[in-house]
Amino acid sequence: MDIRGRRKSSNIEDRRGMRPVRTGVGLSIGGVLFLVVLSLLGINPLPFLGVATKTPEVQMQESAQPYQESPQEAKLREMTAVVLADTEETWNALLPQYGVAYQEPTLVLFSGAVQSACGTAESAMGPFYCPLDQKVYIDMSFYDDLSQRFGAPGDFAQAYVIAHEVGHHVQNLVGTAEKVQAAQQRMPKAQANELSVRMELQADCYAGVWAHHAARSRQLLEAGDVEEGLGAASAIGDDRIQRETQGRVVPDAFTHGSSEQRVRWFRRGLETGNPADCDTFAAKQL
Ligand SMILES: [Zn+2]
Repeated sequence: MDIRGRRKSSNIEDRRGMRPVRTGVGLSIGGVLFLVVLSLLGINPLPFLGVATKTPEVQMQESAQPYQESPQEAKLREMTAVVLADTEETWNALLPQYGVAYQEPTLVLFSGAVQSACGTAESAMGPFYCPLDQKVYIDMSFYDDLSQRFGAPGDFAQAYVIAHEVGHHVQNLVGTAEKVQAAQQRMPKAQANELSVRMELQADCYAGVWAHHAARSRQLLEAGDVEEGLGAASAIGDDRIQRETQGRVVPDAFTHGSSEQRVRWFRRGLETGNPADCDTFAAKQL
């Protein structure tokens, strides 16, 4: 990709260098004493409950120094901001055709671990989207994993990962995510897994839709980029990941689809640029 002179998204929240810290649950002893003293003094303690209680939340603790990024990390951050901006252009233009206004998601950069509305996550779990706070979370060290562990190097492989997570945001906005979750609750596990696969393949297809428009409308792609994207789709298929991590393939535990399926759906979005062609739920053959 040639990102020089491109718009960078301002929807980036930099939480690198912060750590989630569990702050405990319920009233502290000091808090209880404080409330007792207030009521003894004839003061209604209720308005002070919030002061004395500790919420069962995990809070982010800022480190003493601001995060010092390497020149390499600065480049990755810029690339991430340009790709996010380009997904905004794409979906701002496409979604109104489906009667939905696009709400731009926030992308959170973190290091090590992060607290989202969906819970605390470690970097090892990989990038993810949390529908509850509508944020995409990514520890950019995943880009190293992508190139070294999964053999999918290149900036467009990284862009594909961002566009896939943004694809989940689109599913959330159009209501697909909610429908799938409701259906999954009434299903045996194997069937629920298959629906998850269809969700994931649709997000891959949406990543392809983005790539189509980034290439056609804004000439963001360079020679070799499509191959990098396809390489990433293939590299992070469940069968490849399972073989890497467990040494065997268990199709029932697939939640993202096989390498071949991921490539096929990314390619479909890429070729047509039309989200309507991403109906993985209606497809007989994935
Ligand atoms: Zn996904």
